[in-house]
Amino acid sequence: MKLSAEFLDLKLRHAFTIARGSSVTSKTVLIRLRSGRHTGFGEGSPTRYYKQTDAGCLRDARAMAKIVAQADPFDIENILDEAKRRWPRSPAARCALDIALHDLIGKITGLPLWKYWGLDPAKTPQTSFTIGIDTLEMVRKKVAEAQRFPVLKIKLGVEGDMDIIKEVRKLCPKKTLRVDANCGWTVNETVRKAKILEKLGVEFVEQPIPPGNNAALKRIKDRIGIGLMTDESSLTPEDIVPLAGCVDGINIKLTKCGGLRDAMKMVHLARGCGLKIMIGCMIESSVMITAGAHLTPLLDYADLDGHILITNDPFKGMGLDRNAKIVLPKGPGLGVTKR
Ligand SMILES: [Mg+2]
Repeated sequence: MKLSAEFLDLKLRHAFTIARGSSVTSKTVLIRLRSGRHTGFGEGSPTRYYKQTDAGCLRDARAMAKIVAQADPFDIENILDEAKRRWPRSPAARCALDIALHDLIGKITGLPLWKYWGLDPAKTPQTSFTIGIDTLEMVRKKVAEAQRFPVLKIKLGVEGDMDIIKEVRKLCPKKTLRVDANCGWTVNETVRKAKILEKLGVEFVEQPIPPGNNAALKRIKDRIGIGLMTDESSLTPEDIVPLAGCVDGINIKLTKCGGLRDAMKMVHLARGCGLKIMIGCMIESSVMITAGAHLTPLLDYADLDGHILITNDPFKGMGLDRNAKIVLPKGPGLGVTKR
């Protein structure tokens, strides 16, 4: 196989910060894997969890050419084990390689990935749409733009954040609301705020406290009346079993765990521990979003909106029906095409 890698410069629809009106870009790494007449695409988003830089991620992705040069794509298990051995702290580059291999295998066999895995495409969940932290005025604007999404995930974890969620509830009395505090709260603060969230009919709170303290998560779970999900506490398959009994569910992200193969392990481990499962995303193109979407018939919740937050997605893949339920492509592999 011939491997090449490049940056994708994705342009955000809304600036992240107070630099109002100015657009911000986010970089991901795209891998192209060629075998005969087939090309597999894969993508990874450099992640702060491992102090990865964009340049380091691209360098590692390019270096992976040497471990696939003589390899058969169906030897995926050995290839990815070797990649993990050589680049243990580069999950984003490994994620791009993993997805490209899955896409290639699907294209060679002529099967969509969900079919290759034996999954039912009718069982996909709805995706939520994320509303980032902003001024109340901007939150109102973003909520209005998200009219077509029946499920919203609201980013909290800053001072005055109860005002944000109360405002969103006022604007959409009927929608399913989830919140993500991104490690911004303490245990007591979470318990206190969860009472307000419960009254507002919020379904669950994601990662209220920093990772590394599962006992504290359990103390929260025992004291609140809404669901408790992890994100920063559930990076890899090794993290799952210790979370059993401490939370209600986990959030998987492909770029944190190194791709679809380890994501699948997390799914089975979480089910064995009686945990609910969500898949999330970063700012990413339709390549990585669609890769994650292929897993969703096995999951409870999806938060796959990273490609909607950008204006220059070079690819077309996963679709959404009128109720924002995920529609898997029918083409072989990921079923992703260039725009
Ligand atoms: Mg999160």
